[in-house]
Amino acid sequence: MSDEEPLMMDQFVVLNYHDLLTPTMVRYSEALVRGTLLGQQCPQCGLVYVPPRGYCPIDTIVLGTEHDVELEDRGVVTAYTIVTPVQYHGQKETEPFVRATILLDEPGGILSLQDLPDVPHDEVRAGMRVQANWVPESERSLDGLDNRSWGSTAGCIKGWRPTGEPDMAPEEYKDKVF
Ligand SMILES: [Zn+2]
Repeated sequence: MSDEEPLMMDQFVVLNYHDLLTPTMVRYSEALVRGTLLGQQCPQCGLVYVPPRGYCPIDTIVLGTEHDVELEDRGVVTAYTIVTPVQYHGQKETEPFVRATILLDEPGGILSLQDLPDVPHDEVRAGMRVQANWVPESERSLDGLDNRSWGSTAGCIKGWRPTGEPDMAPEEYKDKVF
């Protein structure tokens, strides 16, 4: 055994791999490019999952196509974060941006990490009513969509914009945000 110190080297590595979408995510993605948000509603607890997961983790039951539901593209901001980007390798953002969690109107469904590009940061608030701003149909893409996306709408929805309706009071949505 050598007494020499091990030689340490820094090395950037690029790993490219293909992530094959699950059949459930394929249905979600096909609906998304058509301009429809597809979810699944659990028949036992009533929760709506978007994107659909193929199961309900609370009731531990399989969800199939019979549980698919088309969702509204309007909802309410229930939480948000203003992200100040730190520059690191690969980081493209330079200015602060918002990531919001949106509870869709009935039957429900929660989309996280959504953009509110047209809303000044000091006007973003929980309770704000918003609707999807879809990318024109001929320009929609599924780039960036994978099985781990939490409510990813990348390439199909530009962001969400205020509807101008009165804000919803916390009491109206506080039991539906988890
Ligand atoms: Zn359930």
